[in-house]
Amino acid sequence: MALRGQGDPARRPDGGVLRMTADVIDGRRVADTVRNETARRAAAFRERTGRAPGLATVLVGEDPASRVYVANKRRSAAAVGIADFHRHLDEASSRVEVAAVLAELADDPDVSGILLQLPLPGGIDPSDLIELIPVAKDVDGLTTASQGLLARNRPGLRPCTPSGVIRLLQDAEVPLAGAEAVVVGRSELVGRPMAQLLLQEDATVTMAHSRTRNLAEVTRRADVLIAAAGVPGLIGSEHVKAGATVVDVGIHRGESGLVGDVRADDVRQVARRLTPVPGGVGPMTIAMLLANTVTAAEAQHQALNRVGGEGQ
Ligand code: NAP
Repeated sequence: MALRGQGDPARRPDGGVLRMTADVIDGRRVADTVRNETARRAAAFRERTGRAPGLATVLVGEDPASRVYVANKRRSAAAVGIADFHRHLDEASSRVEVAAVLAELADDPDVSGILLQLPLPGGIDPSDLIELIPVAKDVDGLTTASQGLLARNRPGLRPCTPSGVIRLLQDAEVPLAGAEAVVVGRSELVGRPMAQLLLQEDATVTMAHSRTRNLAEVTRRADVLIAAAGVPGLIGSEHVKAGATVVDVGIHRGESGLVGDVRADDVRQVARRLTPVPGGVGPMTIAMLLANTVTAAEAQHQALNRVGGEGQ
């Protein structure tokens, strides 16, 4: 459900669309709902199994932003009853040392989910290290195996930001089946999985990227426009069809605080719904990480029981 409902765009006598103020899709409220659901599921898991779902956050080095992100994730996890298995490695740690920690966490039955905080220091390429996370514990949905499951629409853990966007759209009752959806950005973390998830909701999906010709022409097709380019203020009213739903995934720290990829003041005159920055997609990312951790714990427990059952 969105806030400040203004309804459909009003029509001018000449058939054009009057300026309007978009409804704000309130990510903080939906994230609260997801966190409450997750806390209930974590408690039920604890009751059933005698232990809490566990999240291992792996931080390498002292990058200030990464430290803040990891601290937020740990605090949020503790608040819903997820056990903390944090590991902090020093800046000078080698790939082999990081790999050893990941292997140890992979083997620990109390660890339900593993998150390797990116970027790694010293320009270490994280690709091979990410692959050391077992698919069952891949709560960020970043391994090749998780992405394969997503691409084939098979059950699995989905990347947190795009699945948070889907949850926001569902909560705001935005019709997706048959809708024209345009995703600006094709990263492995956001754009690609976002497009896959929209496709699974039966949207007609277009992916735009830095080589797209005439971006505004492409994005103006969208009933649902997802801006995930990482370029502050890239999307203005000229990119948006009247009455569209616009989701701003971008986060940039500007002089006046956080801003997104969308010029909100301009776009809200044209769009029907808009996610704010901050308070839109951002809070959903952590909420979905917590939900994924409990989902992982439940699936691992079920898998163990199946094996136990077969052995009897
Ligand atoms: P990324 O890896 O840098 O990918 C950016 C994508 O946007 C690339 O596919 C790039 O195209 C495309 N792009 C760049 N400039 C463009 C332009 N002018 N026109 C059209 N497409 C353009 O970034 P990311 O990791 O996906 O993140 C995107 C944004 O989301 C960032 O601002 C990031 O901070 C934010 N983010 C937010 C959350 C959250 O919780 N809200 C979570 C993750 C990320 P090419 O492939 O052609 O280079």
